[in-house]
Amino acid sequence: SKKIKLGIVGYGNLGKGAVKAIKETRDMELVAIFTRRDPKDLDMNEPNVKAVHISDAVDYKDKIDVMLLCGGSATDLPEQTPHFASMFNTVDSYDTHAKIPEFYQSVHEAASKNNTTAIISVGWDPGLFSINRVMAESVLPNGETYTFWGKGLSQGHSDAVRRVEGVKNGVQYTIPAEDAIEKVRSGQNPELTTAEKHRRVCYIVPEEGADKAEIENTIKTMPNYFADYDTEVNFITEEELNRDHSKAPHGGFVIRGGNTGEDNKQIYEFSLKLDSNPEFTSSVLVAYARAAYRLSNEKQFGAKTVYDVAPGHISERSAEELRRDYL
Ligand code: NAP
Repeated sequence: SKKIKLGIVGYGNLGKGAVKAIKETRDMELVAIFTRRDPKDLDMNEPNVKAVHISDAVDYKDKIDVMLLCGGSATDLPEQTPHFASMFNTVDSYDTHAKIPEFYQSVHEAASKNNTTAIISVGWDPGLFSINRVMAESVLPNGETYTFWGKGLSQGHSDAVRRVEGVKNGVQYTIPAEDAIEKVRSGQNPELTTAEKHRRVCYIVPEEGADKAEIENTIKTMPNYFADYDTEVNFITEEELNRDHSKAPHGGFVIRGGNTGEDNKQIYEFSLKLDSNPEFTSSVLVAYARAAYRLSNEKQFGAKTVYDVAPGHISERSAEELRRDYL
């Protein structure tokens, strides 16, 4: 049968991961990558992939079923998702949790008006973790849910520090507190602030002559990203960054400790250990592109989140096959 035709907007870590993830599927194919840069300048070692300037995307309205939006959450997606949702079905990985409600509104408006389906904030957190938080709480209403991240390099937070004035390059690691995880696993349901659960550690390459104290202060007080956390800022050289911080591992845990009956403890745990955060995230985006395509065919237009998408909709397998072999 006919393959689902995909486009990729933005050729960064996620965009590169998406090219690889599409190859792993049998029912989807890549039509083109869209970039704000001169398409000739992309460092692509993908001879069969077409790169197109983003301003020509409108010409692909009838050639692409779903656009995978791979831009950054800090400044790209708030602009790009409503724009593309007015022309295409879309999937994005918007991860500024505190701003998701307003992001949803602006995308919902664009998608509803133009009869497109836009699945927002897909990935692992938000995404698979979000699903598991709701599953665990719905099943165990009497309990407490905890999310731990890392140890890992956070794309969203690294993206944010790199946009700080005077920062040439940088990365951010999120590190879970082991003693806090153990308390949660034992079913004690402790009260833990976010800072007690994690630390944030940044490695920054400053521009020449930049004010380091100013950079450190801007990062530590950045709302949503760092202000509420115990944040450490280290300054290093470009060489050290390339040598010690060029991989993008991540992962984490969603754990709920709950009680049923009089005194039975129940622990619900979901975890991910990822060698490459962007390659995993874009694999989730690609799976949800299937759902965006199907929802759009069912005329379920507007902005959607992972809570609105049935698990069967992201699977390549038919409902009948899922009932027979997986249920
Ligand atoms: P990234 O590598 O910084 O790419 C973001 C954009 O920057 C690209 O779309 C690209 O746009 C541009 N860009 C990339 N490399 C460039 C270069 N060398 N020169 C100039 N421009 C360049 O960001 P990412 O790692 O792909 O992550 C994107 C977003 O994914 C993050 O902001 C984060 O919010 C989100 N994320 C979500 C989850 C989740 O679980 N939900 C997990 C991980 C990440 P152009 O091609 O148009 O220039």
